[in-house]
This record gives sequence, structure tokens and C-alpha cells, in this order.
Amino acid sequence: MQNFTWPYPLEWQKEEVLTADVLVLGGGIAGCMAAISAARKGKKVLLIEKGATEMSGAGGSGCDHWESAATNPCSGVTPEDLAAAMLEDNGGFNNGISHYIECREGYDRLLDIEKMGGKIRDTDDEFRGAAFRDESTKLMFAYDYKSRITLRVWGTTFKPAMYRELKRLGVKILDRVMATSLLTENGHRGGRCIGATGLHARTGRFFIFSARSTIMCLSRPARIWLFSSDHTGLCEFRPTQCVGDGHAMGWRAGAEFTMMEKSVGAQFSAAGRSYPPYGAGNNHNTWYGASIIDAEGREIPYADRDGKILNSVEERFLPADGQPFFLKGGSVDNPDYRYDGPETLPYSKMVEQGYKLPFYADLTELPENERKVIWGMMVGEEGKTRVPVYENYKKAGFDPSRHVLQCYGTGWTSASFLPQERQLFGLPGGFLNDWKLKSSIDGLYVAGDSLYASNCYGHAAATGHYAGRHASDYATIAEMTPFDRKQADEEKRRIYAPVQTNPDTALGWKELNMGISKTMQNYCGEIKRDELLKIGLLRLQEYENNILPKTHAFNPHELVRLLEVFDILTVSQIILHSCIARKTSIKALSFERGDSIECSNEEDRMLITIKKDNDKIITGFMPVDFFGDLKENYERHNHDYIKSK
Ligand SMILES: Cc1cc2nc3c(=O)[nH]c(=O)nc-3n(C[C@H](O)[C@H](O)[C@H](O)COP(=O)(O)OP(=O)(O)OC[C@H]3O[C@@H](n4cnc5c(N)ncnc54)[C@H](O)[C@@H]3O)c2cc1C
Repeated sequence: MQNFTWPYPLEWQKEEVLTADVLVLGGGIAGCMAAISAARKGKKVLLIEKGATEMSGAGGSGCDHWESAATNPCSGVTPEDLAAAMLEDNGGFNNGISHYIECREGYDRLLDIEKMGGKIRDTDDEFRGAAFRDESTKLMFAYDYKSRITLRVWGTTFKPAMYRELKRLGVKILDRVMATSLLTENGHRGGRCIGATGLHARTGRFFIFSARSTIMCLSRPARIWLFSSDHTGLCEFRPTQCVGDGHAMGWRAGAEFTMMEKSVGAQFSAAGRSYPPYGAGNNHNTWYGASIIDAEGREIPYADRDGKILNSVEERFLPADGQPFFLKGGSVDNPDYRYDGPETLPYSKMVEQGYKLPFYADLTELPENERKVIWGMMVGEEGKTRVPVYENYKKAGFDPSRHVLQCYGTGWTSASFLPQERQLFGLPGGFLNDWKLKSSIDGLYVAGDSLYASNCYGHAAATGHYAGRHASDYATIAEMTPFDRKQADEEKRRIYAPVQTNPDTALGWKELNMGISKTMQNYCGEIKRDELLKIGLLRLQEYENNILPKTHAFNPHELVRLLEVFDILTVSQIILHSCIARKTSIKALSFERGDSIECSNEEDRMLITIKKDNDKIITGFMPVDFFGDLKENYERHNHDYIKSK
């Protein structure tokens, strides 16, 4: 089949054992910050990254706005009020612990990144005098110019700066290695985490990592519903290699998850249907504040939360009368009235009123600073926009003072998706955590998008640093426990199996991913029913029993892709089990059941927890606000950090 020579030495089955005090899985934003804070605590740190740490992950190619920086000197909102708003905005279904950490420590991390060489203020005075700029600090703000909690930043400079800091601190970085499983004490599911295993994506070498504590920073699942074998790199919003390996690893090790029944209608992805995020006309996030016009050039009005039409561009950036502040950004699914910001009137309503499709995003009439900050600063610094959108559109002649960009969806969606096309976008489920950001497994800490109800750069940086501190404290007292040979051998058997199958009769990773996504669209779409969900589980079980053993990988790269799809299958099973466990429709979880049953209101305020214990699925309930008073508990667990400031 293959008529080229693999360019790297093949090391199938070859084994290497590495040890560390603190093992960090994933070199994205959370992983880099976790490794930096553990190394600063004097620990021997090992960081495992599937790609190249310098630019990998969702934040590797950039970030144009840093949310929830409640302690920045210009902020008009306290960390307590902001975290409370984030909880209320999601009907309580949010991670109070991690978002309080974000609100309380996010700005500290931004200052850290600045010291490492990242650009966080308008030092070149490019935007002097702009309404969104603070003249004394030169910090720049997005969305709500009054509350000033979200900063516009030059995110393309961040990841390289963190990478230099990791090197300076002597963190051992292993790039191009996929973490494949967690090692547990005596090989027992649910036992203390004592390390992990890995596979080199170029040579196929097997790694065993032994550590006193481990930090999970492998982002969130993707490609569950959305997959296009023709556009594999464009299937989802997050990068191709972030598919939820960490969730699958945690599940196999017995960790507890929550909110895994939550998914939202696809918004921002490609999968053959959509245009590149931020590259089509919209007025959200990076493009917030842009005007939207119809085919005849008529502007779609912006209105505040009370429906009051806003007549000036300035008002798009201000809260409504009597509103203390509004929330905008990547984590707002169904805005609560209290925190709802200015928005264009619904497109469908405008069409009914005679506005003509298509609509376009139009920067031509915006004040010069607003246009310049969207096109050229935000678009350019945002993830995946520097080359694909900013540079390529510029080369093609796009001039934002003269041209407009067509909208293909509504709101910020980059296409009109089908109802069964869903996504883990915004604040999806993930690992359950305590106040130390420890998972339900001893020795395993979690940060960034791996946590339940997590999202955003500042959140990943803040929780990464926080998990790094607490995992270091744990490592100070924890033993270095030898790994279980049987557990390591089992994993070797699992991961190398696809190299030993017959390629002439085998399937590849794309076919398997396609089958899983089709199954999830058919049986776990917009409206859930027990019968459908159970058929979905059976279908996935069939794949596991009959298709997985027939898959083949020709080389280490394909093996990584295939193992990812095995993980996608595992995550899909977690999702189906979680959906079965949730019996009623919950708007805050975008969870709709066609066979919703009557139950006590109390259950509607409960998180569903889920884990696997041997072959049994164990579900439980816990109150959404199990974490208690945020400020009090945070301060109880972080004396040293507070003292060090
Ligand atoms: C296009 C885009 C634009 C965004 N813009 C913004 C923004 O402007 N503001 C904002 O606040 N947020 C933004 N976000 C979200 C933000 O980037 C993420 O929330 C943040 O990066 C999460 O950090 P993380 O460390 O959890 O995950 P990531 O930064 O994605 O890091 C995860 C890392 O794990 C690695 N990995 C995955 N699986 C394995 C494995 N098995 N073994 C080893 N390594 C593995 C990946 O390669 C990656 O490096 C954006 C996201 C995207 C995709």
C-alpha cells in the first residue's frame, strides 16, 4: 500500500523509563503554566506533549482576548461578583472552583507572561486615545468598556514566551509523544496515580513515566459528532490533536467526571460544512462590535438586553441602564438577563421584516480605532487567524475600510449547522475536581480545558499554575512508587495491536471516526431519548468488539491518529452513559429530552457524576454548588500563595 520510506527510525516495542517529581501531561497553556509553577517550587518536572510545545494546543497560534481578569487595576468587578455571575449565567452548572481561581489569579498569570516576554499592553501607543485603552497602564479592553474585565492581548507572543521560560527553568520537555494511559498503584483502577505511558509519534517508542504526582492538561474531547475525512485538519474548533485523550485515559483509570451529558449545537467548526472560524462575517468574540448589514447595505440594529435600540457604536460596548456589567466571550451559551450584553436583533426576525440575505460583517463605517483593533489586532492575534485569515485575506486584497465579509450562520457560528451536529463548545463536561484541583484519583491533578465546565486562556493559565503548586506540595510528601509491570504490558499490547493487523483487510482511523460520528449524530443528537441512546451504546460496543481489532496503522503517525479515535470512542460512551443518567431536560446544559420525566426540582440543580469501576458504570448526584463559599475556601487552601504576593 505505502510506497514511501518512513523518515524516522522505527522503535516499535522499544521501552524507555523516565522519572520526575511532577509529571505534566500536555504542553498547552495549562500544561506550560503547571510545569512553570512546579519547577519554580524546585521540583523535577517532566512535560509530555504530542505536538511541539512552543506552538501547540488551542492557544499556540494565538489568543486575542483574556477573560475574567477581575484583579487588573482598571477592573470594576470583584473576583467574587464575577465568579458569581459566571455561575448564575449557567444556572449554577459551572465550575465555581476553577472560575474563581481564574477571576482571582488570571491577571497574575498575565503579568507572569509579560515578564516572560509576552505583549499584554499597547506599548507602541498604536491605539492612544481609544475608548478601550487605559492611558496610564496602556492596557486595552474588549466588550464591556466600563467594567474592563476582558483584556485585548497579543496572544501570538505568549506561547513562545512560556516555552523559553520552561527551558530556562530546566523543565524536561518531551515533544511528539502522545500520553496514552495513566499508571495506578498496583495497577488498580481508581488507585493512586503514579505516572503515565506514552508513544513517540515519529519512532513508535514506548515510554513509562513514573512520578510522585501527575497533572492532566490534555484539553477536551472533539470530533465526537463532527468529522470530515476530506478536511481532517478543519473538523473542529480546537486543534486536530486535541480530541479528549485525557478524558479517555482518566475514564480507564477510574476517575470521576461530571456534566458529560452537555453538548451544544455546533457553532464554530468546519467538518466540511463551515468556513474557518473568524474568517466569515460575524459580530462576536474577535469581531465583537462589528456592524452587520444586509444585501442592500441596511444595518441590522444592535439592542441592549431590554430591546432598546442602540444608535451609536459606543453604546455597543456599554452595559444597559442599571446593569453593573455584562458578560461576553467564549463561555456564554444562553446569556442570563442579568449579564446579557448588547446584540444585533435576531437575523430571522430581520428577514421577516424584509431585510435581504445574505448578511455581511461591515467594518467600513466603524471609528478608525475600532476597525483597526478588530482587523489587524484581534484578527491576527486570535488563535488560527494570523496566517489563514489575516495574511491570506490581505494577500487576496481584503481591505476592511472598503470591503465586507459574508455571514454564513447566525451569531458567531461559521455555518448553518444541522440539529444533530453537536460540539463540546463553551463550558462542557470534564474531570471533577476538588479545591486543590485534584481529581477523584489521588495523585492526579487537573487543569485547563480538561476540567469540567472549563474554557479560555486565562482560566487555563490560572488553573495550570494553581494545579502545579498543589501537585508540587503533594509530590513533597508522596512516595515514588514503582509501576506495575502487568499494567504497562497491557497498555503495550493495546497500543501496538493495530500495527500487527493485516493491512489488506483492515480499516483506518478515518473510517472509524466517521462511523462513531455518524452514530453520535443518529443516536445522541439534539433531542435525547433513552431508546436512541441505548442503541447508540450498542452500536459503539459493536465497534469496540468487532471494528477496533480490525484497524491498522502503517506507521507511528497513523498509530497516534488511530489511538486518538479509540479515545473518541471511549469519550462517546461516557457521553451516552451520562445522557442516559440525566432524565430531564435542562436548558443550562443545552440538554433536551424527548422523554423527559417528572422529577423533583432538586435533581435539576444536581451535577451527575460518572465513573467506571471494573465493568460497572457508577453514577451519582452532587449539588452544583458543592464547593461552598468561594472566597473562604480559596483562602483556606492558598495561604502560601496569598502570603507570597
Ligand atoms: C481558535 C481558538 C481561538 C481561541 N481564542 C481564545 C481567546 O481569544 N481567548 C481565550 O480566553 N480563549 C481562547 N481560546 C480557548 C483557549 O485557547 C483554550 O481554552 C486554552 O488554550 C486551553 O488550554 P489547555 O492547556 O487546557 O489546552 P490546550 O492549550 O489546547 O493544550 C492541550 C495540549 O495537550 C496536547 N495533547 C493533547 N492530547 C495529548 C496527548 N495524548 N499526549 C500529549 N499531549 C497531548 C495538545 O497538543 C496541546 O498542546 C481559543 C481556542 C481556539 C481553538
